Amino acid sequence: MSRELNVVARPAADSPDQLRPIRRSTPSVSVGGVLVGSAHPIVVQSMTNTDTADAAGTAAQVAHLARAGSQIVRVTVNNDAAAAAIPEIVQRLADDGLTTPIVGDFHYNGHKLLAAHPKAAELLAKYRINPGNVGSKHRDENFQTIVKVAIDHGKPVRIGVNWGSLDQDLLTRLMEENAAAATPASARSVTIEAIVRSATQSAELAEATGLPHDRILLSAKTSNVRDLFDVYTELAGRCDYPLHLGLTEAGMGMKGIVATSAALGHLLNQGIGDTIRVSLTPEPGADRALEVEVAQQILQSLGLRAFSPQVTSCPGCGRTTSTFFQEMAQEIQGYLKTRLPEWRPLHPGVENLEVAVMGCVVNGPGESKHANLGISLPGTFEEPVAPVFQDGALLTTLRGDRIVAEFLEILERYVADHYTQTQPK
Ligand code: SF4
Repeated sequence: MSRELNVVARPAADSPDQLRPIRRSTPSVSVGGVLVGSAHPIVVQSMTNTDTADAAGTAAQVAHLARAGSQIVRVTVNNDAAAAAIPEIVQRLADDGLTTPIVGDFHYNGHKLLAAHPKAAELLAKYRINPGNVGSKHRDENFQTIVKVAIDHGKPVRIGVNWGSLDQDLLTRLMEENAAAATPASARSVTIEAIVRSATQSAELAEATGLPHDRILLSAKTSNVRDLFDVYTELAGRCDYPLHLGLTEAGMGMKGIVATSAALGHLLNQGIGDTIRVSLTPEPGADRALEVEVAQQILQSLGLRAFSPQVTSCPGCGRTTSTFFQEMAQEIQGYLKTRLPEWRPLHPGVENLEVAVMGCVVNGPGESKHANLGISLPGTFEEPVAPVFQDGALLTTLRGDRIVAEFLEILERYVADHYTQTQPK
């Protein structure tokens, strides 16, 4: 008896553009010239942890974050000394050749500081207002004072709700309404509703005060990944303001990076999010710019932006008993990172380069063929040769003790030949 094969037509290969999530449509908001909104690439931003009153130290950290790729940097403006330091910070950055927009983070006394420091109000590119921290007795009045300063100076405002400082009056009212309902919702649902309403109602108040629609961004951060999904999904469905995405108080090291990646990855893949910040607790002495690197890596892993050449390498297994393969993967990764600042201005597009470093012939040649350049190292008991693939075809086979050096030479040639050389300025 013959058996008919149920042949399913293979769909045409998806291009990276087809695979990219469709961004939720949002207006463009200019933050000191950096455009945020669905018509623009998702913006990476970060925040300093220096005492803002220390203008030299803060300017140095802003410069470091900016050079790492942070397109916008937020500084805390918590007192008169911090507000008074803003002009010097901006001047120091200008002297350093940087025009990175500086955002002022205001809590409790923003209405007083912005009124008392007009120069800071003029030089800051955006004001962040936390509606849970503008006072309870004169909440709306204080909020509107900040909004009016923003209107006078032509600045955008981020209404940044944080569940740790949620407007308690609003939460209490919603909890009471819920308790009186015939079928009360869970406390979690009510809290999420309060977070979302705090953001949307504040935005309504800002617009009623006179702030144009396209000068408002929203954020509503939680520290729990699943709460963040629900808050931002709800928020995205209720308004079209650009959304600043972040998992607040993400934590330290591996935990913070993984939780943030899970949270932001899911939302970005739903097309939600116009600018992102990764809020890691730095380990003592660690580089603050790690948060910028993680943000870039999240966007690049999702195919949303390209910042640096990527290395695909296998985890290794019993077929790779020596550390040679791990050391080579690390050496190539380090080489790419070191060379990138010089390549970037000379070879536009080099950030799209993909390199594969594989441990043996099982997946090595196949994976290498998918990269721009790939090398498949010899596994245990394999012939001590390393085939190199360029754009899917075997280029050469390396052997001996100069495999790494020769592969790096091939890498340099590939970059020079494939990414149009521009003249150094
Ligand atoms: S490519 Fe080879 S060495 Fe790497 S994980 Fe797979 S089988 Fe192991």
